[in-house]
Amino acid sequence: MLSILRLIRSETSQVHVYAGTLIGTAVCVAVAVFADSFNFAEMSKDHFRRALATDILLPIVIGGPFFYFLLEKIRQLAVARLELQHLASTDSLTAVLNRGAFVMLVEAYLEKAAAGSLSPVGSLLIVDADHFKQINDEYGHQSGDRALKLIASTIRGTLTGAQIVGRIGGEEFAVFLPDVQSERAYELAETIRRRVGDIIFPEGTSENVLSVSIGGASFSKPESYKEIFKIADIKLYEAKSAGRNLVRL
Ligand code: GH3
Ligand code: MG
Ligand code: MG
Repeated sequence: MLSILRLIRSETSQVHVYAGTLIGTAVCVAVAVFADSFNFAEMSKDHFRRALATDILLPIVIGGPFFYFLLEKIRQLAVARLELQHLASTDSLTAVLNRGAFVMLVEAYLEKAAAGSLSPVGSLLIVDADHFKQINDEYGHQSGDRALKLIASTIRGTLTGAQIVGRIGGEEFAVFLPDVQSERAYELAETIRRRVGDIIFPEGTSENVLSVSIGGASFSKPESYKEIFKIADIKLYEAKSAGRNLVRL
């Protein structure tokens, strides 16, 4: 999650600290030279050189470290805020994003994509555990909880970089894949489906009773989250109707 947040929030970038320090210091030098320029006409050559050197060096020696320290502190605060946000937006059972945080992040990404500052291409997957009511009935609710944790960590283990997963319902997860086109999204969905099918559950046996159905939608120009979700949900329904343990994109 932190990767996608850093993608969306530029104030955490170290480059901004350096750029801000440079600009701030340059402005101080310009102001000092300008303010002193009214005295330049009355100065001897030697006096002028010394005054100019002071006007340039003093702001650099004092202003440079000052701006760097200030901007670095602001950057550290922004990073700390992101980390706090990360804690507040985590689902307590599965440790993936909760629904609100997931939707907020995807919408923020799509807004930036619409503004042209991020890739307008991407994919959304909805991953729904199959016959989960039966899993609960057969093995108990606590085992069901453990199965959800295993499914969540399996999905998370398949994702890289700015790709995120959220728990958007009881036994339903959503995956957002920025800058991932449909073929790659399909491959990733298949990998998730296969890996969930390989989970040993119940633990301590050699059984693999878990499976997921996955519906997905890819976009190549900025769309709203609602629109993308609607299509992925229709595809999920198709995967369920066609027999479950399937990917439809
Ligand atoms: P389908 O293949 O059609 O998706 O069938 P399903 O049984 O998975 O779907 P349904 O919506 O009928 O039931 C979802 C079940 O998921 C029912 C509910 O008890 C279970 N569930 C939802 N949240 C949790 C949870 O936090 N822990 C556990 N153990 N079970 C949960
Ligand atoms: Mg289900
Ligand atoms: Mg469901």
